[in-house]
Amino acid sequence: MTPPPPPHAIRPGFESAIHRLREAFFSRNPSRWPLYSLPPFADILAFRALPIPSSERVAHYPDGPAMLARLRSLDAVPAASRQPDGEIDPLILFAAALSKNWEVPYSVENVATMPSDPGILGAVLGTLANPNLVHPEYAEMAVELEHAVIRQIATQTGWDPAMATGIFTQGGTFCNLYGYLLGIRKNLPLAREYGLEHGLDYRIINSQGGHYSNTTNLSLLGVNLRRKTIRIRITDDNDMDMADLERQLRACFQLGCVVPTIMLTMGTTDTFAVDQVKPVRDLCDRLCAQYEITAKPHLHVDAAVGWPLIFFLDYNFDRNPLEINESTLAGLRRNTERFRELRHADSFTVDFHKWGYVPYTSSLVMIRDRKDLAALEHDPENFSYFEKDTEGQTHLHSTIECSRGGVGVFAAATSLLHLGVEGHQLLVANALQTAGYFRHRLAQTPGVMVLAPANHGPSASFRLYDPAIVADPEAEFALEYDVLNTPDWSVRVARNNQYHRQAFLRRGKRGLYTNYVASAAHTDYDAHDRYRILPGEKAVFMNPLTRFEHIDAFIATIHG
Ligand SMILES: *Cc1c(COP(=O)(O)O)cnc(C)c1O
Repeated sequence: MTPPPPPHAIRPGFESAIHRLREAFFSRNPSRWPLYSLPPFADILAFRALPIPSSERVAHYPDGPAMLARLRSLDAVPAASRQPDGEIDPLILFAAALSKNWEVPYSVENVATMPSDPGILGAVLGTLANPNLVHPEYAEMAVELEHAVIRQIATQTGWDPAMATGIFTQGGTFCNLYGYLLGIRKNLPLAREYGLEHGLDYRIINSQGGHYSNTTNLSLLGVNLRRKTIRIRITDDNDMDMADLERQLRACFQLGCVVPTIMLTMGTTDTFAVDQVKPVRDLCDRLCAQYEITAKPHLHVDAAVGWPLIFFLDYNFDRNPLEINESTLAGLRRNTERFRELRHADSFTVDFHKWGYVPYTSSLVMIRDRKDLAALEHDPENFSYFEKDTEGQTHLHSTIECSRGGVGVFAAATSLLHLGVEGHQLLVANALQTAGYFRHRLAQTPGVMVLAPANHGPSASFRLYDPAIVADPEAEFALEYDVLNTPDWSVRVARNNQYHRQAFLRRGKRGLYTNYVASAAHTDYDAHDRYRILPGEKAVFMNPLTRFEHIDAFIATIHG
């Protein structure tokens, strides 16, 4: 009998499928995507394909230092026109060639990745067509395309595509802004005219584990962050502490205080914590009934990073047709079960430009019940600028923006049609397998503590200790975590931080382009109900070009 494959290995069926996918959609190959054979595209890609470290690219570019000097000193619009002659100003080529190179396998910074070939082509077409989605008259067929993408994502989530709606907007931050705003306008309707401090008392609820946009948006809306925002405690796995949520919600309702919005997160940026939605929905229903509250909290889910897990909702985990490896399958299955609850949200954030492999920016706020948008409508008097009789066909009165570009719509639509569910499944599984292999290798390395190992997301972060001093990284981390009872906490953490930071700097950005971040983990809560943050190093494995061999090379020099 042949022995079972090692749990972290890539299985043959998966390897050949992901290989075909890389060739078809991530190769910048002009024979598959003729756009890339045109001179400016071909030139830029040829330079970016050279194996030159980031720091040496200016020196290698033809006349690079002079170009840089010209760029830095450019401060006036040229007086005369420049004739095209089939060429674009070399300064533009220089800037494009030397912008961040996502097409190298070492690019594992943050939740960002090289876009797919169809995503790029779609974005180019969107630019060429140049619709303005503010009004159907300025967009025509692009409006239909936007609706088609929204219906596809609704169906994939398990929503009724005829009932749902959505808005492409400027990034996940704005999607979350819509999430807050929907709750505020539905539950505090007077706020539109009189502001938030008029009328009923309220509290907005989010999670301590949420992305910073969860907070900055509230400040933007004029919400008192100190007194009118409740940030729910998080568990050791960084998801929302349900007991704390119940306590806080009960306290609000007991006092007759409106909770316009609860902001959840499915897939936190660094640790891929996935909040539950169904229990929050049930809790709201139960407490609203008990306290006779009619203004039910609007549940918005920030799924900016995590949303592609919806491509697994119909995956046959028992048959596992893609041959996803054993160590990835269990975590993926668990996270998929959580994403099954996304359909209980009232709205959620989708960033196609993250795990959707679409160029920047392409974000969509999805809304389960299109009637909710009515709550955002402003008085039509404000819109006298547009022709009256076409206004009714659009979200014009409900959107935050006026001009709304169609590039993100075309890019997302093209990517979805070309990659299909299976392509997205492969890309997600590939990221998870690669991240899983990284965590596996880290766990075998002296001096390494893998953070949030149970979350099984595309990101992996760790703390690095001096193996000469720290024999047991887990025990060391336990001391750092227990801020309340570790007497020499500050000295110990400072010493460990110093070691890790120095190792990171010694290594330089060679091997994987990891990041050293201030908040990779947190301690337990202290006597004041606060936690401290702990720095660490992180890598996010969304890049389809990153292979196990790059990870092996990184691990070999991890201590610098
Ligand atoms: C990236 C991110 C955001 C913000 O999205 P942008 O598109 O960068 O504005 C919000 N929430 C989470 C969880 C994110 O990872």
